[in-house]
Amino acid sequence: MFSKVLIANRGEIAVRIIAACRELGIATVAVHSDADTDCLHVRLADESVCIGGPYANTSYLNVTAVISAAEITGAEAIHPGYGFLAENAHFAEIVEDCGLTFIGPSPAAIRLMGNKAQARRVVSEAGVPILPGSDGPISSRQDAVDLAKEIGYPVILKASFGGGGRGMRLAWNARELRAAFDTARNEAEKAFGDPTVYLEKYLQAPRHIEFQILADQHGRVIHLGERECSIQRRHQKLIEEAPSIALTREMRTEMGQAAVETARKARYVNAGTVEFLLDSDGSFYFMEMNTRIQVEHPVTELVTGVDLLREQLLIASGEKMSVPRRKQISPIGHAIEFRINAEDPVTFAPSPGKIQMLAFPGGPGVRVDSHLYGGYSIPPYYDSLVAKLVVHGKDREEAMTRGRRALEMLQIEGIKTSAALHHEILQDEEYRSGAIDTHFMERFIERRSA
Ligand code: ADP
Repeated sequence: MFSKVLIANRGEIAVRIIAACRELGIATVAVHSDADTDCLHVRLADESVCIGGPYANTSYLNVTAVISAAEITGAEAIHPGYGFLAENAHFAEIVEDCGLTFIGPSPAAIRLMGNKAQARRVVSEAGVPILPGSDGPISSRQDAVDLAKEIGYPVILKASFGGGGRGMRLAWNARELRAAFDTARNEAEKAFGDPTVYLEKYLQAPRHIEFQILADQHGRVIHLGERECSIQRRHQKLIEEAPSIALTREMRTEMGQAAVETARKARYVNAGTVEFLLDSDGSFYFMEMNTRIQVEHPVTELVTGVDLLREQLLIASGEKMSVPRRKQISPIGHAIEFRINAEDPVTFAPSPGKIQMLAFPGGPGVRVDSHLYGGYSIPPYYDSLVAKLVVHGKDREEAMTRGRRALEMLQIEGIKTSAALHHEILQDEEYRSGAIDTHFMERFIERRSA
């Protein structure tokens, strides 16, 4: 096992990685920007190095600075967390070239899955269902229109190198598609540095269901069940649950098998997530693979009892994963994660600022992953996620009850947060019934303002 790990990230996920390292007796190095000197991950790590200015491109995205920090401190491995450099194949390659270990998959696997148009083709070769759409990138407006005519509208144009819910354009007819084509390419170029787009059939009321994968260097590839992530706003997840009430045991087996095949096809090692869309008729389709630990990993941890960060460290160091072998994964109880963002619960405007008072809820079935503390000033430069409130109960009903009381016990003064929004969602009949799809939030917001 490693004796020292550098964490190329900040905030709650850096704190989560430190926790896993502590339990394994691994020393930790935090890196931080000028704006993050007081961030909790810096306080908790054994050592810390300032690597640049407030803007991420001068610090958390500065490959040379991160690598230098690892070399100066004698770290043997780098955990990228999520976001920032986590899915940057070039970074993973440099880490390995410098004789360090990247805690994640190989650069080749990151590269393969990072090109979403290519990933579609590769997984379909492995027999995994994909949505009707382009076989790779689509290069002209006319090709897009011809293909859409064949598969039928609506269709969606997506950036091949996209992520974070950005760079997607929906079209209901040829006129819209012609207009969307240039816009989508321009947006993709601006946001991801590459204008390549691909096209697929747009499902009108799907669920977003994703499977957690673990794969070690000894050839073992398993899935740990699914997460239901249909509660999204502008394609960004707000609430995640495990298990999904939409899946039967048979569907879990079938989709889980497809996720494992996907990982095998990519020669994937470490933790990853295979995302699917589940249509209302029960058909499922591969959407993309995320080659990193995800924000919503705690719900899987709560229903499986597996510490995913610990497994990531074991796997990266060459050990076998420690998950006991069993025939079929059966989730225990039900878990729900509420993303607490520093934002206005009604307008969704960012609300950075100083935490005047803070009290986290506890008690049965409640977990909080956060980097907040009383007196901390949230800098305006980064993602608005400040805490993840995760609850676990014997069934969905109990999880919702716990969620509600935990949200009431969560006290954050000084900034606005999305906690109030979650509390409202938990009282919404449609949410409670579980008959949700990816457009739930649009309907909810409409109901709320009616
Ligand atoms: P990103 O990597 O940017 O998050 P994804 O491919 O994971 O993009 O898609 C994000 C969300 O966009 C999905 O969860 C779903 O709500 C919506 N979406 C993407 N593709 C489709 C599609 N073909 N049909 C319907 N909804 C889609």
